[in-house]
Amino acid sequence: MRKPIIAGNWKMNMNPTQTTEFVNAIKANLPKFDQTESVIGAPAVDLPALLEAAKGTDLKVAAENCYFEEAGAFTGETSPKTLNEMGVDYVIIGHSERRDYFHETDEDINKKAHAIFKNNMTPIFCCGESLETREAGKAEEWVSNQVTEGLKGLSADQVSSMVIAYEPIWAIGTGKTASADQAQEICAVVRQTVAKLYDQTVADKVRIQYGGSVKPANVKEIMGKEDIDGGLVGGASMEPASFLDLVHFND
Ligand code: 13P
Repeated sequence: MRKPIIAGNWKMNMNPTQTTEFVNAIKANLPKFDQTESVIGAPAVDLPALLEAAKGTDLKVAAENCYFEEAGAFTGETSPKTLNEMGVDYVIIGHSERRDYFHETDEDINKKAHAIFKNNMTPIFCCGESLETREAGKAEEWVSNQVTEGLKGLSADQVSSMVIAYEPIWAIGTGKTASADQAQEICAVVRQTVAKLYDQTVADKVRIQYGGSVKPANVKEIMGKEDIDGGLVGGASMEPASFLDLVHFND
């Protein structure tokens, strides 16, 4: 049985004060961590406030990015070693906004995955196709290739423990959700790709999220799909009541 994992991705929104207020508003009503994992991914500058507020609660903390080196002359980057020292649990990597706006390559993202595991955290690895790729009938091939490149050199144990988020670019922040069936179709492709690269045991363990206009109104249907174990949520994760509705999708 794979444990559901609902993660907010705040992107470049919220400040430390808002972060503390948000966690104080939700912390008493989170599901127990051993039943459903609730995660918030916040900008690096908000992480100290988020970690402090989340202490002793059922909330896990994600960074939205990190660099693949631990230290050195890399002005403006965030060290995975430091994130681990601070107590961060997850790091989101390969988000389409980072691939598109900051020109991150499959190779960069793969190096980040290795660095995150080396520093005892868990990657949430994002993949997903553009509208153009989907309309060309190449979504499955595209996503399968991103997964193959992104997981290169990772061990079976590492992949078993990680999270892969399928986020079709055309559904992010557009209000256009992939239908639950469309989401399931590609999440199944992700799992089959993992089975091909490793084996069925690893594929049965890796947790796969869907992301793209997930909200309280559609989360239950999406989470009901066989290969979907979680959601990676932008807009609807930034309001306490909405976040709580998402993490309590199965109540
Ligand atoms: P929205 O939920 O706002 O569509 O964003 C999805 C996303 O990019 C999460 O990483």
